Amino acid sequence: MAEEKKSPNQQLQERLSVKKESAWIKLKDKIEAIYSFSETYKSFMGKNKTERLCIRSMIEMLEKAGFSQIHVQHELKPGVAVYKNIKGKSLIACKVGSDPMKVRIIGAHVDSPRLDLKPYPLYEDAEVALLKSHYYGGIKKYQWVNIPLAIHGVAFTKEGKTVEIHIGENPDEPRFIIPDLLPHLAKDQMKKTGENIIEGEELNILFAHIPIDDTDIKEKIKCNVLKYLNATYGLVEEDFIAADIELVPAYQPVDIGIDRGLIAAYGQDDRVCAYTALRALLDANDCKETVILYLADREEIGSMGDTGAESFVFINFMREYIRKTGVTATWDELLENAVSISADVTGALDPTFKSVNDPNNVSYLGHGVSIEKYGGRGGKYSTSEAHAEYMHYLRTLADTHGIPWQTGEQGKIDVGGGGTIAMFMSRYGMDCVDVGPCVLGMHSPFEVTSKVDVYCTYLFYKAFLEDSGI
Ligand code: MN
Ligand code: MN
Repeated sequence: MAEEKKSPNQQLQERLSVKKESAWIKLKDKIEAIYSFSETYKSFMGKNKTERLCIRSMIEMLEKAGFSQIHVQHELKPGVAVYKNIKGKSLIACKVGSDPMKVRIIGAHVDSPRLDLKPYPLYEDAEVALLKSHYYGGIKKYQWVNIPLAIHGVAFTKEGKTVEIHIGENPDEPRFIIPDLLPHLAKDQMKKTGENIIEGEELNILFAHIPIDDTDIKEKIKCNVLKYLNATYGLVEEDFIAADIELVPAYQPVDIGIDRGLIAAYGQDDRVCAYTALRALLDANDCKETVILYLADREEIGSMGDTGAESFVFINFMREYIRKTGVTATWDELLENAVSISADVTGALDPTFKSVNDPNNVSYLGHGVSIEKYGGRGGKYSTSEAHAEYMHYLRTLADTHGIPWQTGEQGKIDVGGGGTIAMFMSRYGMDCVDVGPCVLGMHSPFEVTSKVDVYCTYLFYKAFLEDSGI
């Protein structure tokens, strides 16, 4: 009936134009699934705020689903599921397909912007003990003051004992904080540019306050802290150099909005993609091709280092895969013929800061998973670009499965931009594209996503893993 009322030109317009509509409307029959997926996602995010915690939980999930460490397998037959743990900070998981010569890969990263402790962080001043931090990744430093922080880390005692430190997530535990300067005395500070309003060397975390009761001791509060750390963990001050200790927002993930349509959580870039991709891998059935999930570390600082996507760890895994499957190809041949997704988030159009985006070429909260042809910055530097052929394959895949999707650019030309691991994956010669949900307040201590986009991302990754023969 409705169709008959439309004029020929209206019908024409409908047929020819891109439709931009809310995925909430398109998936109105799936509301329950969207909300229940969000609950498990939020609970994962609340428990796994560092790359180490994330990898550990993911290994648990993989093992529960029948994955085993690759080194214990002598032969990789179709259907066998394995993983490789890369120093507890990165992970490659793989389900061997019925055609092991064909490989499809999803790569995401599990590190997020945060505050790391300096090698010798502890000092005392003005009746408090503080920890000096060195920020990790691209943050607006002023966002990290006056918020509750939690500590997560691992350290080694001189005797070689591993010690884990987790303080500040449970309601009865203390939190930590970087106090900002009071406005009354901030006349000079307020004249600084945003980048310097809080300087790197001002990210000093309040750690303790009570002095040891001993007049012979000079730094009484620091001494009390060391006494506590030694009694509780067996640590001495020097052990901070044999440690990875991170400060993260102590916030637990929450629903945002009276309709509960959005999620705020720390570290959604990029654990939203890591989590949805892992769920997709666990739920993917009857994969004809071998499917691989690569969870990289160090993306937020350029992917450099032995646990980053720029390392040769992925190649080493492929070498082992070839030996154990017995396929007659080299790793570079396999990877050149592979297809892949760089699973990462993109910026959502912020209604308050619209001027940084081209409204026709930006992702909108609630419009489904974002498939971005390229990232990078002005002039398409520092990115890879998916080819027309591959983009056609991907949009057809989404449409065939009825998965709402959208596309966009990270920002207006020359305003800024950002890289992902797509450029490191695509250098093997495989097709690669950036796919993930869009985020508001990216890299802030509390990032926002739409529940429907998170669900669409999961659906798309699953469809990709189950597909074959591009
Ligand atoms: Mn990212
Ligand atoms: Mn990022």
